[in-house]
Amino acid sequence: DLVPLRRALLSVSDKTGLIGLGKALADRGVELLSTGGTAKALREAGLGVLDVAEVTGFPEMMDGRVKTLHPMVHGGLLALRDNPDHLAAMDKHGIGAIDLLVVNLYPFEETVARGAEHASCVENIDIGGPAMIRAAAKNHAFVSVVTDTQDYAALLEELAAHDGATSYAFRQGLAQTAYARTGAYDAAVSGWMAEALNQPAPRRRVVAGTLAQTLRYGENPHQSAAFYVDGSARPGVATAKQWQGKELSYNNINDTDAAFELVSEFLPADGPACAIIKHANPCGVARGASLKEAYRRAFDCDRTSAFGGIVALNMTLDAETATAIAEIFTEVVIAPGADDAAREIFARKKNLRLLTTGSLADPATASLTLRQVSGGFLVQDKDNGRLAVGDLKVATKRAPSEEELADLLFAWKVAKHVKSNAIVYVKDGATVGVGAGQMSRVDSTRIAARKARDMAEAMGLGTPLTQGSVVASDAFFPFPDGLLSAAEAGARAVIQPGGSIRDDEVIAAADEAGLAMVFTGMRHFRH
Ligand code: 5GP
Repeated sequence: DLVPLRRALLSVSDKTGLIGLGKALADRGVELLSTGGTAKALREAGLGVLDVAEVTGFPEMMDGRVKTLHPMVHGGLLALRDNPDHLAAMDKHGIGAIDLLVVNLYPFEETVARGAEHASCVENIDIGGPAMIRAAAKNHAFVSVVTDTQDYAALLEELAAHDGATSYAFRQGLAQTAYARTGAYDAAVSGWMAEALNQPAPRRRVVAGTLAQTLRYGENPHQSAAFYVDGSARPGVATAKQWQGKELSYNNINDTDAAFELVSEFLPADGPACAIIKHANPCGVARGASLKEAYRRAFDCDRTSAFGGIVALNMTLDAETATAIAEIFTEVVIAPGADDAAREIFARKKNLRLLTTGSLADPATASLTLRQVSGGFLVQDKDNGRLAVGDLKVATKRAPSEEELADLLFAWKVAKHVKSNAIVYVKDGATVGVGAGQMSRVDSTRIAARKARDMAEAMGLGTPLTQGSVVASDAFFPFPDGLLSAAEAGARAVIQPGGSIRDDEVIAAADEAGLAMVFTGMRHFRH
């Protein structure tokens, strides 16, 4: 199964490592064919190259849209070397076999990521490259196809080990990588178009990504893991700039994403906001008069859990906020930006990772969420549900006051980002108790209240912070018990979807306790 390598076609957008590879191939007596820019680079390095245009008899045309799309190229890639008919066809048409294809594609994903115009993104959809890659990979019985600059070294080692030939197993491995690349490439194009349409119907979507980072390990040290990006330009952990600190881990990426998505719900125009995440759930979210105050108030919701947390801010990190954050052990800070003074303060904290995103994520942008199940995965629209005051229906005798209403909407936004069953107590634009991920709603209610009591004790306060608070529930209260437990903790107003068959009982209990309760008609399950 060893195939000697005699003729190679190189056509690369990313010219990293090209000259070294070209030289090594030439030293082995391999004949080099190449397209415009690649041929030029090789020639400038003193290598002999044959232009593909000479092989096809056609010049490259239409701004490079048509360069290699020709039977002289595709016949050379696809012909079965042990099939007499194929050999006769090659002979008849003067088609020379191509044993190695080295292609990396037009940088479509990078073009999208830097926010280029539509026309420029379209022009960066490579056509001839994927066609050649797929042809060569199909014919891996005879042809090697390299689509990743990182595989150049392995190719040269393979040639060295087999006296200038490649083995079947090696070619098959390359072919597998090649189809992963073309699959991800088209998925990126389709995903970009779906985003432009802002209506990515899950049944028309394809799920794929490009490897961005091999992670040290997964959720646990015995699991291997990697980070794939889907090529979207959405501000967030995938596209952020990391200024300092170790590489992000699997759990860091997950939590940083949760933190940034949550804080992006709070427009800077409405004032500074901060979210602190632990184990994918918020342990404190707050607004403040300043960013530092927002951080402090978020921190005060649950100081114990905030230790080693992930902090997301909705505005440029400044020096005073950086100083406050640096006081305790924090894993990651993510913000739209960070000023020089803030970066200097963090520079002294070697282990703290600082990420900046340029702007907040738009919570209204449509995208997909995925969940793996054995044998497949579930795909759904991202939960973009948002409410305005006008969407709320007052269910109780008492209507919420202005202040309560503002807190109810704040609590509702946070509850959307808490694992179900979610209960969120809020007072004056800050969470004061979060109950997450319990199997029963009443447990989430109690846990949140107990944590608030613990915090009050730790802070030397007379009354728990839930006194005079409002509470949000991500789904309806099926029985009055959860609601009554929230009232007992001191909640004065409630926001919940409504829609339980026992709504009447729940409303009666709320009225009896003097609560104001509004129904959203929308649920925010998050599992
Ligand atoms: P070069 O820099 O050599 O001029 O161009 C290399 C790039 O052209 C590679 O990314 C390769 O995938 C792409 N390419 C090769 N043939 C064709 C073609 O026929 N059409 C298009 N659109 N791209 C091609």
